[in-house]
Amino acid sequence: MSLPTINELSKEIANLISAGEVVERPASVVKELVENAIDAESSNIRIELLNSGIKKITVLDNGFGMTKDQIPVAIKPHATSKIKTSSDLFNIATLGFRGEALPSIQSVSKMRISSCTDGVNGYFYQYKSSELIDEGITPMPIGTKVEVENLFFNTPARLKHLSTESVELSHITTLINRIALANPNISFTLINNNKVVYQTDGTNNLISLMGQTYGLDVAKNLIKFENKNDLYHINGYTTTNNVYRSNKNYINIVINNRIIRNLNILFAVTDAYKSIIPVGKYPITLLEIKCDPSLIDVNVHPTKLEIRFTDELILREMITSTIGKCLYQTSLVYEAKEKDIKIETHDQLENPYVTLIKEDEPKNIKEESIETLWDEFDEDNTDLDFDDFDDEDDDKDDDDLDFTIDAEAKVEVQKVEFEESIFDTLTYIGQYHKTYLLFDGGNDLYLVDQHAAMERCMYEKIRDSFKQESNKSIELLIPIKLEFSVSEIPLINEKEQEISKLGIKFEPFGGTTIIIREIPLWIPKNFEIEFISDIINHLINNQNVSKSIMYESLAKKLSCKKSIKANTFILDSEVKELINNLKKCEMPYTCPHGRPTLVKISTYEIEKMFKRVI
Ligand code: ZN
Ligand code: ZN
Repeated sequence: MSLPTINELSKEIANLISAGEVVERPASVVKELVENAIDAESSNIRIELLNSGIKKITVLDNGFGMTKDQIPVAIKPHATSKIKTSSDLFNIATLGFRGEALPSIQSVSKMRISSCTDGVNGYFYQYKSSELIDEGITPMPIGTKVEVENLFFNTPARLKHLSTESVELSHITTLINRIALANPNISFTLINNNKVVYQTDGTNNLISLMGQTYGLDVAKNLIKFENKNDLYHINGYTTTNNVYRSNKNYINIVINNRIIRNLNILFAVTDAYKSIIPVGKYPITLLEIKCDPSLIDVNVHPTKLEIRFTDELILREMITSTIGKCLYQTSLVYEAKEKDIKIETHDQLENPYVTLIKEDEPKNIKEESIETLWDEFDEDNTDLDFDDFDDEDDDKDDDDLDFTIDAEAKVEVQKVEFEESIFDTLTYIGQYHKTYLLFDGGNDLYLVDQHAAMERCMYEKIRDSFKQESNKSIELLIPIKLEFSVSEIPLINEKEQEISKLGIKFEPFGGTTIIIREIPLWIPKNFEIEFISDIINHLINNQNVSKSIMYESLAKKLSCKKSIKANTFILDSEVKELINNLKKCEMPYTCPHGRPTLVKISTYEIEKMFKRVI
C-alpha cells in the first residue's frame, strides 16, 4: 500500500475549484476554445455540438496548429505564454484570464486535443479528468481539433445547474454571434446535432455579416457610418428607425477585433437615437473602434474588467454625432410592407407597428395612453441583459453610469436639404378616419398621422426653447394664480432661478399659492395654466434625473398635450401648415416618442393587394 500522493490530489482539487469559477457552462468551454482558434490565426472555425454542448463540443480550426511537444504545454495551468508585451494585456484581459481555462475544462471533462503543423501527421492526447489516458499519431490537415465530452461528468452539482438545452444553445449562439461580428474575416460555422445553427462567410463584408447574424430585415435597414480623429477611427453599421430591439444586446462594440462591453460607449450609440426610436428600444449596431492599444487602459480585477479610453468624452461625442448625422441625413420614412398588413402571423415583439395596426382599438383611444406604451420613462433603468458568462459583472456597469454628459446638446445636426424633399411631392387627398392624412406622392401613397406630425413640430420648438440661455417671455395682463402643496412651495422657491430661466417669472402669493407674472413666448394660447403647472411640477419632481433627460421628457409631454388629437377634423389650410412645419423639422419622420409620422405604401404593394402583380 502506498501513501496517497498529496501533491497530485491537491492539484486536482485546485483544478476542480477553479473549474467551477471559469467553466460555468458549455458556452464557457466554447469561448475558450474558439478564442484559442482565433489566436492560432485560423480563417475557418467550425463548432460542432451534441445536445447543445452538454454531451460533446468539438472545435475545429485551420490555424497554425501545435506540435506533439507544444500541446501539453498549452494545457498546463498558467500557460500564459501569450502575455509578451504590455499591450498584449488588453487582448488577454478582454478574453478573460487566459491559460486558466484549458486545465479547468480538462479537469471536468473527457478532452481530446489533436493538432497538426504539417498537414500529414498530427498528434493527439486524450484525457479523462486531468489524467492522460491515451496519445498517438493521427492523420489530419493543418490546424487543431479539440473535443470535450461529458462536461461536468465528475461534478454532478454543476451539471445539475445547467439550464435546458435550448437555453445553453442560445448562450453559445449569442457568444459566437459576437465573436463573429468582431472577426469578419473569419468564417464561423456553428452546428448543433448535425444542424447548422449559424454560419458566416468570413469575407469581411459587414452588411452580409449582419444579415447572416440578424436576418435580412436588419441587413436591409442598415446605414453606414465612419469618422476619425487623431486618436480613433470609428466605423460600422447601424439600423434605421424601421428596425429595433427591446434590449441592448444587439449593440456590438468592437475594439481592435475584440468585442467589449462599455456602457459609456453604448450610451454614445443610443444617444444618437433620441426621439427617433421609442424609449426603451435599441438599435442593432456594429461599431468598430480602431486605435493604438496604448490608448486603452485596462484595469483587471479578479471579478471586474474596466476599460477606459484616453479622451473618452471626445470619443463618445464623435460616436454620437457621427451616427446622429447619418440618421438625420437618411430618409427615415417608414415603409408599410404587405407583412404589416397581413398581420396574423407576425410576432409582435419584433415589429411594434404590427401591434398598432392589429389591435382593434376603441375609437376614442387617448393619445397619451398610446404613447405611454411608447415612452415608458425608463432611461435610468440600466440593467443590462448581457449574458452571465461574460467576464464583467453587471453591478459594475451600474456604478459606471454617467448621465452628466448632455449628448443631446452636442449632436449638432445640420438639417440636410434633400435635392427634393419628400414633402414637396405630396398632394393632399383628404383625411381618413379623422386621424390620418392621405397624400398622393406621385408614385406612392403616403399617410401622415396628424397627431404624431404635429407633435414632432411642437416638440422641436419646445426642445429648442429649453436649450436657449434665456427664454423670451411676455408679461401676462391677468396674472395666473397656481396652487401647490405645503411641501412643494419650498422646492419651487429653491428652483426659482431655473424656472425663471425658462421664462416663467413668479412670486409667492402667501400660503400655498404662487402668482405667475410672465410666461415664455412659445406657450400656445389657452394652454398657459396647464403648461406652466406641468413645467413647474416636472422640475420639482425630477430632481434626481439629469437635466437633459428631464427637459427631454418634459418637451415630449408638453408637445403631446398641445398637438391635435386623433378623431379630430382638420382644415385643408391646417394640413398645409402642418406639412410645411414638418418639412422644416430636424427629424420629420418620427414623433418624439419614436412613432412614425409618415408611412409610405408603395404602388407596388398596393398593386400586389389588388393582384395586378404577382
Ligand atoms: Zn402624443
Ligand atoms: Zn408621440
